[in-house]
Amino acid sequence: MPIATVNPANGETLKTFDALGAAEIERRLAAADTTFREYRTTGFGERARLLNRAADLLDEDQQDIARTMTTEMGKPVKAARAEAAKCAKAMRWYADAAEELLADEHPSAGDVGDAGASRAYVHYRPLGPVLAVMPWNFPLWQVVRFAAPALMAGNVGLLKHASNVPQTALYLEDLFRRAGFPAGCFQTLLVGSGAVESILRDPRVVAATLTGSEPAGRAVAAIAGDEVKHTVLELGGSDPFLVLPSADVRQAARTAVTARVQNNGQSCIAAKRFIVHTDVYDEFAEEFTAGMRALKVGDPQQESTDIGPLASEQGRTDIEELVDDAVRQGATVLCGGSRPTGLGARLDRGWFYAPTVLSAITPAMRIHREETFGPVATLYRAADLGEAVALANDTPFGLSSNVWTRDADESRQCVRDLQAGGVFFNGMTASHPALPFGGVKRSGYGRELAGHGIREFCNATTVWYG
Ligand code: NAP
Repeated sequence: MPIATVNPANGETLKTFDALGAAEIERRLAAADTTFREYRTTGFGERARLLNRAADLLDEDQQDIARTMTTEMGKPVKAARAEAAKCAKAMRWYADAAEELLADEHPSAGDVGDAGASRAYVHYRPLGPVLAVMPWNFPLWQVVRFAAPALMAGNVGLLKHASNVPQTALYLEDLFRRAGFPAGCFQTLLVGSGAVESILRDPRVVAATLTGSEPAGRAVAAIAGDEVKHTVLELGGSDPFLVLPSADVRQAARTAVTARVQNNGQSCIAAKRFIVHTDVYDEFAEEFTAGMRALKVGDPQQESTDIGPLASEQGRTDIEELVDDAVRQGATVLCGGSRPTGLGARLDRGWFYAPTVLSAITPAMRIHREETFGPVATLYRAADLGEAVALANDTPFGLSSNVWTRDADESRQCVRDLQAGGVFFNGMTASHPALPFGGVKRSGYGRELAGHGIREFCNATTVWYG
C-alpha cells in the first residue's frame, strides 16, 4: 500500500510520501532508546505539564487537523472535530490521573510479614520504547489513547500509522514536539506494514500495541511472541444491539442509527447486529429503517453531511461483496443495498455506499460471521432473551455489546452472559478515559484507557525489604 493521502470523496491522490529508509529508521530507534534513558527519570509533574501543553495545542489546531483527517479518510468533519476534542480531554485526564494510577501499592502489613519482610510494595516502572501500529478509522484517537498513558508512565512511543493517513501521523509527531517533549519521546515512522517485523524484532523496542484487523493483529502478535515481547491487541468487532420488550423502542431505534453509522460505519465498536425481541421487532424495524433511510450521504467536508465515503475503494468492495452474498442467499433489503445515486459529478468517483438494513439473515451468510466495516446493519428476530443472548454470542468477536431493557433481572443476565469487553445498557458503546476498553475472543486482548491501560506497558516491580 503506498503511503499517500488519497481523498476518498473523489479518489484523487493529493500527496505521496517515500517510506523511511533503513538508515533513518535506525536513527529514530537510536533516538527512542537514548531519550527513554533520560525521560524515564522525569517526574509526573513534568510529564503532565508537557501533556497538558499538547492538549492545549490540539485544541488550537482543532479545525485544521479535523479537515486533514476528513480529507485523508472521509469522516464527516463535525465528527473529526469531536475526535480532536476527545483526544485533548483524554490527554488532560491522564495528565491529572497518572500519578495516582501508578502509585505504589502496599499490601496490608500482615500479608508479607510471614515472609520475613519488614516492608514490601509494588512499584510501577516504564518499559521503554513501545511500537504502536495503528488504523486509519480514528486516526487521532487511536494514537492518543495509547500515547497519553504511555508518555505519562515514562515510556516513549514509535508510531507506525496506517499508510492512508500520513499527514495525520506527521501532525501527531509535530504536536508532541511542539508541546516540548524531548525529540525521541514520540516519533512517527512513515513505513509500510512490511517494515514492522524488523522494527519489532529490534532489541530496543520492548513491546507493541496494535489496533486494527485480525490478520494484522495475528501477524504482529506472532512476531512479538517469538521475541517474547508484550502486546495489546485491539481488533475487530461485530457488536450486538439487543432490544427487549421493556425498552423505549423509539429511542432505541434512534440510537441504533447513530451506533451503526458513526464514522461512516467504520468503527470497531459500532453496533452491527440488531437483535430484537419478536414483540417489538416490527416497531423497531420500521423506526430504524426510516432513520437509516433519512441520513444525508455526501461530501464529508460539509457540516450537514451524516455519512461520507468509505475510506478506501477496497473497503467499499468488501462491503458490496458481503451485502451481495447475503442477498444471493435470501436476505431482505429494507433500505440501501447499493451505491447511492445523485451525489453529483464531483463525488461520483468517491467510495460511497448507501446506508443499508438487511433482514432474514442466516448463519450461512458471510455477513453473519464477518465484520461489516461500513454503514450496513443486519436485523435479527429473537423469541426471548435466551435466544437473543445466544445470537449475540454467535460471533468470533467480543468487543462490546448494547442492551435496551428496563428489567433488572434481564440486565443481570446480560452482564453475566454476553461475551464482550463491555455491556452498555440503554445507550451505545463509547470509550471514556476513566473506563477500560478492549475485547475478548477474536477482538483481541489487553486493555486500553483507565488504570488498566496505563499499567499494560509498565513493569509491576515487587520491592521487598528484609
Ligand atoms: P489493518 O489493515 O489491520 O491496519 C491496521 C494497521 O496495521 C495499519 O497501520 C496497517 O498498516 C498495519 N498492518 C496491516 N497488516 C499488517 C501486518 N501484516 N503486519 C504489520 N502491520 C500490519 O486495519 P484497518 O483497515 O486500518 O482498520 C480496520 C480494522 O481495525 C477493523 O477490523 C476494526 O474493527 C479494527 N479496529 C479495532 C479497534 C479496537 O479498538 N478494537 C479500533 C479501531 C479499529 P498499512 O496501513 O500500511 O497496511
